[in-house]
This record gives sequence, C-alpha cells and structure tokens, in this order.
Amino acid sequence: MLSYRHSFHAGNHADVVKHIVQSLILDALKQKEKPFVYHDTHSGVGRYDLQDERSEKTGEFKQGIARIWGRDDIPADIQSYLDAIQVLNDGEELRYYPGSPKVARAQIREQDRMVLTELHPSDFPLLLQEFRGDRQVKIYKEDAFARLKASLPPKERRGVVLIDPPYELKHEYMDVVKAIDESYKRWATGTYAIWYPVVYRETIDKMLKGLKDLGISKILQIELGVEPDTEERGMTASGMIVINPPWKLESQMQTILPWLQQAIAPTHGHHTVEWVVPE
Ligand code: SAM
Repeated sequence: MLSYRHSFHAGNHADVVKHIVQSLILDALKQKEKPFVYHDTHSGVGRYDLQDERSEKTGEFKQGIARIWGRDDIPADIQSYLDAIQVLNDGEELRYYPGSPKVARAQIREQDRMVLTELHPSDFPLLLQEFRGDRQVKIYKEDAFARLKASLPPKERRGVVLIDPPYELKHEYMDVVKAIDESYKRWATGTYAIWYPVVYRETIDKMLKGLKDLGISKILQIELGVEPDTEERGMTASGMIVINPPWKLESQMQTILPWLQQAIAPTHGHHTVEWVVPE
C-alpha cells in the first residue's frame, strides 16, 4: 500500500525536528575530510511547494517551519538546516521546503555521495527529475530495506542512514527494528537516524524495547511534542532515534529543543533528549 504522500505534511513540526537532527549529523560528518555516504531509505520527492494545494489543504507547515523562518533569535547550530531551505528560495519569502534528500544535497561535499530509494509511482519520477544528471546521487525505485541491505557496508565506512517510513501499517514499526538488526550486523559503526511519530505511545515504547533487545549501545532519543499523549487518533509528537550519534548531538539538542518548543508549541508542548541505551 502506497497511499502516503509527504506533500501534505512537508515543513510541519515533525519535518523540522527530523531535518535539524539530520543536518547536525551531516555537520559532524564534515568535520573530517574523508568521504561519507548519506543513505535515505524513504526519500519522498525532495522538494515541496508550500503553495501547492496539498500543503494549503492541511496548512501543517504553519505549525512548523513557518514558526521559525525569519526569526532573529535562531540558535547557531541550526544554520546548516536553514541554509538548505534558503538554497530553494529567493530572498526572505518561504515558498519551497526541502525534503530530506535536498537537505542532504545542500550539505554534502564533492567527495561524498547519496543513495536514495523511493517506491511511489508518482513520487519516484519527481525525485529522479530533481537530481537528474547529478553524479553524486544514485536513486533506486526499490524497497527501502532491501536496498539498504544490499548497500551495506558502504565503501567509505562512514556515513548516515536516514530511515523515515510512512508508518501507515502497524508492522512498519517492527520492520524498522528488523532492518536495524540486519544493518547493524553488516555495518556497526554507521549512524542510523530513525524518525518516528507518536500516535499511540505504546507503539513507540514497543519499538524502543525492540531496539534495546538487539543489544546495541549508543541509542539516543530526541522528541518534540506539540500536545500531551492521547488515546485519540492523531500525531501529538515526533522524534528521532539515533544510533551512534555524533558526540555533540545530545548537547546541541538540549539547547535547540527548548527553543523549538517555545517557538512551535509554547502552551502544550514537551521535549526529551535521553539515552535509550548509553555507551
Ligand atoms: N524522508 C522524506 C523527507 O524527510 O522529506 C519523507 C519521506 S515520507 C515520510 C515516506 C516515503 O516513503 C513516501 O514518499 C513513500 O512513498 C515512501 N515509501 C513507502 N514505502 C516504501 C518502501 N517500502 N520503500 C521505499 N520507499 C517507500
């Protein structure tokens, strides 16, 4: 089933947290000259028009990027993220929002490369078009985890895997755990950044337990909530589970998240940065 279209959600609070964490990981990888790979398992189309009817319909970006774009009290560490957005926009107007592949493309250097997978019959050609002729980017219309398995370990032995499934089906949460198990056996030193939505808290607790039970160390959880947890339907929070995070990520997010919560969800919000499994 491929009914999910990210264009309804681009630039929402969940994208903001995800793409900030992604950018900080890329910043850290760039501290060394050695090449790295950015592997995006669920890529989407790469670029979103916030004036498109899908964006307009939900208006989700209004409680996301629109709350921080143009502010004059931005934490210095989110500059790479904002630069990736600026690349797509002229001047101060915010019209286009980058998906994760374009956030990464704005940051990689000429020695680095990107691997992208996307299965949706409408989104795949748009993604292909976005990167046409780009020799640093390889795009596959293949299943996310099958391609990941086939690509690991990367020849550079350095890099990050972004895992961002739609979670339309219940089993997708445990599919991620299985994919991490298989990937970690092939490449234990890579950074894995897994996005998750909080719709039902028990589902996330179960996924975290599944990851813990793999016996992997260095798992950091980062979360921003816009509403308290509820039993009713709807995403109230989202976060990133980062395996082998760069050493500064925890302290950077300790500074960024309170600011972000204040900007995005000042009344009912909450945030967390904590080790699921420490070193
Ligand atoms: N990572 C993107 C970003 O941050 O801009 C958003 C990705 S969106 C949440 C999830 C994407 O995964 C959708 O575009 C969907 O078509 C794609 N997808 C769903 N199942 C897939 C699969 N098995 N393999 C590859 N892509 C898949």
